Amino acid sequence: MADGPDSEPASAVRRGGMTVEECQNMIQRSLRTPMVKFLKEHLEKAGCSIGSNFIKAVRCPGAMAGGYTSGGGIIVCSNHLQIQDEVTQVVIHELIHAYDDCRAANLDWHNCTHHACSEIRAGHLSGDCHYKRELLRGFLKIRGHEQDCVRRRVMKSVTANPYCSEAAAKDAMEAVWDICYNDTKPFDRAP
Ligand SMILES: [Zn+2]
Repeated sequence: MADGPDSEPASAVRRGGMTVEECQNMIQRSLRTPMVKFLKEHLEKAGCSIGSNFIKAVRCPGAMAGGYTSGGGIIVCSNHLQIQDEVTQVVIHELIHAYDDCRAANLDWHNCTHHACSEIRAGHLSGDCHYKRELLRGFLKIRGHEQDCVRRRVMKSVTANPYCSEAAAKDAMEAVWDICYNDTKPFDRAP
């Protein structure tokens, strides 16, 4: 059993994907973006330097875009992503999980509340739910869209955790929503 059963849902409508090699090159390019640099720097400051092998492109079986496992690093699913922006987005999201794992020694990915908290933060801080991305996904509601979007994605990720039923995921998300949504570390405020 993997230690951190985190998997990011891929969008419902997907064509193609890319080769593992193309994806690996996009991961390299993502490492030069300011957000990824910033998160890498703060991981190092927190005592968790990441090696060159930490983020890997792989072909994923289920409908997932990427994942993070404690001790196993980050995977980016080449077969469910198409463009640089998507790859960078997954890398940023997963680095926030890595940061949470690093700063909280007792973080337990089998605990639905811990998992939900990290998903709330990753969803909020990575910009996964920026309105332009939501428009591309076909979710057009504007008012309150950002929080609705984060909630939807938290539920998808946490219910994919074999330790969390749908009811447990929902309860966990509601219980920690305010604290975790407002916890923007290592950023001063949500980027
Ligand atoms: Zn996640």
